[in-house]
Amino acid sequence: MPIDTADVIRALERDEVVPAFQPVVELRTGRLSGFEVLARWQSPTRGLVLPPNFISIAEETGLIGSLTHQVLRKAFRCISTLPAPLSLAINISPIQMRYASLPSQIRDAAEEAGFPLNRLTIEITESALFGDLPPVQKVAMALKDMGCRLAIDDFGTGYSSLAHLQALPFDDVKIDRSFVENMTTVRDSRKIVAAIVALGHTLGLTTVAEGVETEQQASILQSLDCDRGQGWLYGRPAPAESIVSLVAAPGRTISDASSKQDDGRAVSSLDTHGQLQAIYDGAPVGLAFLDSNLRHVTVNRQLAEMTGIPVADHNGKTVKEVVPKLYPAIEPYLLRALKGEAVINVEVARVGLDNDEGTRTSLVSYLPARDETNSVIGISVAIVDISPRKRAEKALHAIAEDHRFMLETHPHASWTMDANGSNLVVNPPAVHMSGFGDDWTRNLGWLGSIHPVDQQPTMNAVRLALRTKSSLDIQYRVHTVDGDWRWLRSRGEPRFAAPGKNQNWFGFIEDVDKHKRLEDALIESQIETQFLLHAAQNNFQPHKVVKGIVVSDA
Ligand code: C2E
Ligand code: CA
Ligand code: CA
Repeated sequence: MPIDTADVIRALERDEVVPAFQPVVELRTGRLSGFEVLARWQSPTRGLVLPPNFISIAEETGLIGSLTHQVLRKAFRCISTLPAPLSLAINISPIQMRYASLPSQIRDAAEEAGFPLNRLTIEITESALFGDLPPVQKVAMALKDMGCRLAIDDFGTGYSSLAHLQALPFDDVKIDRSFVENMTTVRDSRKIVAAIVALGHTLGLTTVAEGVETEQQASILQSLDCDRGQGWLYGRPAPAESIVSLVAAPGRTISDASSKQDDGRAVSSLDTHGQLQAIYDGAPVGLAFLDSNLRHVTVNRQLAEMTGIPVADHNGKTVKEVVPKLYPAIEPYLLRALKGEAVINVEVARVGLDNDEGTRTSLVSYLPARDETNSVIGISVAIVDISPRKRAEKALHAIAEDHRFMLETHPHASWTMDANGSNLVVNPPAVHMSGFGDDWTRNLGWLGSIHPVDQQPTMNAVRLALRTKSSLDIQYRVHTVDGDWRWLRSRGEPRFAAPGKNQNWFGFIEDVDKHKRLEDALIESQIETQFLLHAAQNNFQPHKVVKGIVVSDA
């Protein structure tokens, strides 16, 4: 009998949805690294029902939140004593990543059982990234702020694009079972897995292969340098009671299982080809496969854009032929990779590629690609263009240097303040003029040397400027060494590091004491004049005028 909404409601009401735990292992050592929680419906009439039969109904009917709650509550209770550093991964439906309340629900459930959030991974599929992204990013950031890890699940399927890896701050990428399954027979599947692993590493992600069923798959994954594995080889999803024995079991070491060559079924299907290309072209990274003679076998569009040479002009040509000038600089890395060493994240600078931008800097990884017998058959190259970052770093450094120089040598008194107004740096003339010493420069301490009457208005003006990021123009009195008060005028502007993001405030201090006193005297005399005029008009004779206030003898 097909399962309908009423069945799912009843299952939840009767508290029949329970967690199963599937082990995840470190491929290199065979050691247990944690568990993935998978929902199971323990139906009194149907027996154990698997998620594909009820998750989509729960998603469509808005019951997925309750289902998650039921599974999580029980899962956390079962594993609250899971020894560190073993971790737990949970599945969250795409729709739930749009609920602002999700992070607090997860936190409450974990805290209730005393499970540390920094050992919890949230698995989401790429479909969570379709549509309006900001609400999803907000939830993801809240989860990250709580200490959780984020994993992208089923990677490589559907609309996969490596660009998605950068949409959220992912920590792990889980390579879909379909590729792992065919890896031993279909060369393209192996290429996809190799590409995802290489790229995952370039982007600093932990790679997890799903659906590992055989030793042969495990050893290929190991040779590709994949970090973790999960699948029937290491254990099927099991009830909570099995956790203790799984945790106690010694880590299995993966034997160098005799590997099978392609068995004739290894016809590259157009489908996987298309998928591989889609993954490649969506990558925020230049990618290439080189054979053992350092000839380009495949390159993606991004790499062609980086070299300024069309994709077609790479294929079949050696690296030396395509980039002769650069070749001497990268040859040592290529040779090391051919010898089997993974050369990760080397900075490569190339001069004169773009006339307008000058030097371009790339971060490049050269990973040896091996065949089933573990011999190196080529190199997988991944290139990230970091020129904009380098340029920004250089520009910032130059600005900071210029600024330091300007501050120190400028005859006028100047200051800088950080974005929230808490740290002030003043140059020697400013110290001389204002009396703001070292102890005055931190946490608005300078307010202390300001005339009590001027403190509040000054504070208000600074706060307003900081909040609205508009220019600052204030006048206040400071204590002078001879115990007098001196009027100063301070003007400043926020400097923006990037649109909308202010870096620092810069400003100057002028001694406006003379001017201010003249101004005051002028105002005083104006008031006095007006008063005298008024008095004369009214035929009234004051005896004394003190600062504009009439003191009458009467
Ligand atoms: P998934 O997150 O990709 O989970 C892995 C699935 O692969 C599980 O299926 C697991 O039993 C199965 N599997 C693991 N190792 C092997 C293997 O070596 N060979 C084969 N053939 N299969 C293997 P399961 O438990 O049926 O779950 C299916 C999907 O349902 C999960 O896929 C996940 O997307 C979803 N799901 C499970 N529990 C939850 C949950 O609590 N909430 C949500 N939103 N989705 C869940
Ligand atoms: Ca999963
Ligand atoms: Ca999966």
